[in-house]
Amino acid sequence: MVTEFELIDRLRNRLRQRQPQTQLSIGDDAALLNLNRGTLAAAVDTLVAGVHFPEQTTAADLGWKSLAVNLSDLAAMGATPRWALLALTLPQVGESWVDEFADGWAELADSVGIELIGGDTTRGPLSISVTVLGEVAQRPLLRSGASAGDDLYVSGQLGEAAAGLALLQDRLGCVGSDAQRAALLARLNRPAPRVALGQALAAQASAAIDVSDGLLSDLAHLLRASNLAAMLDLNRLQPSAALAAVIPDARARTHCMLNGGDDYELLFSAPASAADAIDQISADTGTAVRRIGRLDQGTRGLIYAAGSEQPLVAQGWDHFR
Ligand code: ADP
Ligand code: MG
Repeated sequence: MVTEFELIDRLRNRLRQRQPQTQLSIGDDAALLNLNRGTLAAAVDTLVAGVHFPEQTTAADLGWKSLAVNLSDLAAMGATPRWALLALTLPQVGESWVDEFADGWAELADSVGIELIGGDTTRGPLSISVTVLGEVAQRPLLRSGASAGDDLYVSGQLGEAAAGLALLQDRLGCVGSDAQRAALLARLNRPAPRVALGQALAAQASAAIDVSDGLLSDLAHLLRASNLAAMLDLNRLQPSAALAAVIPDARARTHCMLNGGDDYELLFSAPASAADAIDQISADTGTAVRRIGRLDQGTRGLIYAAGSEQPLVAQGWDHFR
């Protein structure tokens, strides 16, 4: 067992990222950050055991994922990650749990340079709350900036994390190769926040949101904020080979890609004139991006599949429904 203060020391000693604008980091009543002029983006997300992650998730995966879901919010604003605060509630901890958590966190933090500058440590049911602060260079990417006629794009591959969760919960049977199953589980436990993509898109995209609760559910948020409707081309939602292997039924697979949670991909809009720039950004950042539809005037928030008059109904995750 470690004491609260040993735990804080272990975290600090294991994490090496420092930001030049940090005047005072972990150790006093608050951290002090020197800001140039500009805009700070702030976001917080909490992961509760048994709600946001299966109880058996490893400490290293939790370190990665608790930071990743927050970096995804900064990415969706086009912000550059700078600082993080970590509120940990733990039933009890050994040193190895803290060290593994820090190592998983560091793997991702080192790739974006974000510094842990403080937090809080309490005893109770396992829960991890992370606050992130990022800098917005010129123009933040909002949910509300889209216009009728804009193209709609999504990064990466949808539905894979949800399939990984279904595998873990034995809901799919024994399907797919070992490598495919491992890849899907990794998408659940180690989501890749699209930080570089978000920063690059800030100059080109008209609106953006990260997909955490399912494509339909998060697209509806963007549409309501932008006062638009959308037409989705479902044929463009091509599944990965791994997803196709574990969900062979085409209808079930489409449902998974439209509603599955935990993707942490970026969903964004851009005018048709930006299409070449978007392709270039995709190549420069090494992030697959595909055009999946178009935004339109029409009843605010409604989403149609191309060729259908019936709006699609989101069945994403809502904690209070
Ligand atoms: P206070 O009682 O003033 O809230 P604490 O004893 O909780 O201070 O924390 C002491 C220092 O350690 C503070 O700088 C705080 O931000 C930091 N800290 C506490 N818990 C964590 C944590 N889980 N991760 C990072 N820093 C932490
Ligand atoms: Mg405290």
